[in-house]
Amino acid sequence: MSTGFRADLLIRGARVRTLTGPGHTGTASSVALWRGRVLAVDEDVPARRVLDLDGAVVVPGFHDAHNHMAWYGLSLQEVDLRVPTLDDLYAAVAERAAGLPADAWVVGAGYDENKVGAHPDRDGLDRAAGGRRVWLKHTSGHMCVVSSAVLGDLGLADAPREVAGGLVVCDAAGRPTGLLQETAQSLLSDLVLPYPVDTLVDAVERAGRAYLAEGLTSVVEAGVGGGWIGKSPVEVAAYQAARDAGRLPVRVELMVASDVLHEVPAHADDGFGPGLGLGLDLGIRSGLGDDRLSLGPVKVFSDGSLIGHTCAMTEDFSDTPGVKGYLQSDRDAIVGRIVAAHRAGWRVATHAIGDAAIDLVLDAVELAQRVAPRPGVRHRIEHFGVARPDQVVRAAALGVVPVPQGRFVGEIGDGMLRALGPERAGWAYRGRSLLDAGLPLVGSSDRPVVAGAPLLGMHDMVNRRTESGAAIGPEEAVTGLEALVAYTHGSAYASGQEDTRGLVAPGFVADLAVLSDDPATVDPEGLRDVRVLATLLGGEVVHEA
Ligand SMILES: [Zn+2]
Repeated sequence: MSTGFRADLLIRGARVRTLTGPGHTGTASSVALWRGRVLAVDEDVPARRVLDLDGAVVVPGFHDAHNHMAWYGLSLQEVDLRVPTLDDLYAAVAERAAGLPADAWVVGAGYDENKVGAHPDRDGLDRAAGGRRVWLKHTSGHMCVVSSAVLGDLGLADAPREVAGGLVVCDAAGRPTGLLQETAQSLLSDLVLPYPVDTLVDAVERAGRAYLAEGLTSVVEAGVGGGWIGKSPVEVAAYQAARDAGRLPVRVELMVASDVLHEVPAHADDGFGPGLGLGLDLGIRSGLGDDRLSLGPVKVFSDGSLIGHTCAMTEDFSDTPGVKGYLQSDRDAIVGRIVAAHRAGWRVATHAIGDAAIDLVLDAVELAQRVAPRPGVRHRIEHFGVARPDQVVRAAALGVVPVPQGRFVGEIGDGMLRALGPERAGWAYRGRSLLDAGLPLVGSSDRPVVAGAPLLGMHDMVNRRTESGAAIGPEEAVTGLEALVAYTHGSAYASGQEDTRGLVAPGFVADLAVLSDDPATVDPEGLRDVRVLATLLGGEVVHEA
């Protein structure tokens, strides 16, 4: 270092998990940061500020490869439906309704019929909310229940309507119960969407502040702009507005809902090619942006939810004989969409939970690579929920990156076990077998589907036990170090960012989490009790416990 040079910050006296080197076993005791990046590791660099951590653990900032940031931020102000019984659920709705005008909506999120015993229904909601409009979102996001007033607005009060890729659920007498599955939720869109940009900025900031407290510095938002998952056609503008106002607390990569892609005409000679064909106006596609806010893959939905029994399986669910779930649209249409997006230069992230849906996506990627080879593109399968052994091998051969949610095992694993039965339990949200196949292991939560703190996710990847204590595919458990690598380097890899994020190494972003204990060596049961003491993003301390 030349005379007079000073790093911005020297962190020392720390147990640093750099995650560099063979097996990601690298450690250090000091890190120097300069201009938002890591300058040096284990070098005595002169610095303007010195932070002595007295033995605390430093790891790369956590990276959630699949979450729903605006949805989570909004849910923080909605009625919390994570309650033990249906009576508690109706009571929570009644309590919120009591404080609202008669024409106000009651919106709640997070119920799971596997936990409260059944879906709530319109009659119960009408009683609880005094006839108000009520909209309760299932924890999976793949279905919701509405009150009679909302059904009336939709013209569904007395009889259902056919919806491709979804279902208006009825009772034995043919009367809608209020439950709307999958694409049937889109019927609500005209009533509730779009959200104002200001509301989304508030939601994104609220979510981001919670993330920093959990050591998260990077997240992927898994679907904006359209479909049943999007919150506004100008959702990217909301993230840009948040960023411009200094209200985007973490680094965000946005997946674009495939519903908003369209044919973009260009010069006849262009044919297919990067940014051409299926895309957004101006030819915008995956990769645009910077290290704070960028456009990631296009998000395609192929099927639904495992605990909701709407994901597409090759064999029946164990607890509902005759039911195999369903695809969200015609098989050829989904394959065609994936291939066209691939040819137009997009990275494609397809939601596939059931093994029949996973077959479809693997077929589509194989076809896409045959008609237009794009080596190293890293298409993703979101969830990879119920993957047969042959599908693990095939994903590795095709270079497809699975993005499973190890956290599901802990929070909704009992419902998963019932749906799958014992023989298929080990196929659920795999860990070890992905590593054995040479695939990267990626850390993600799908928050707000489940609680999204990375240390909770790591705990479940290591312990593979449900809330009630049942083991799910214990052979899929990974070590604490492997789980830590998943939530840092692995997620960075899934986003093609492994050269700048996910390790503590010179040139990497200075995103760090300071922890009370080392996830790689702490007792497995104790993983969820590891505390986040501080979070740094771009070299700045952005959270202190
Ligand atoms: Zn999701």
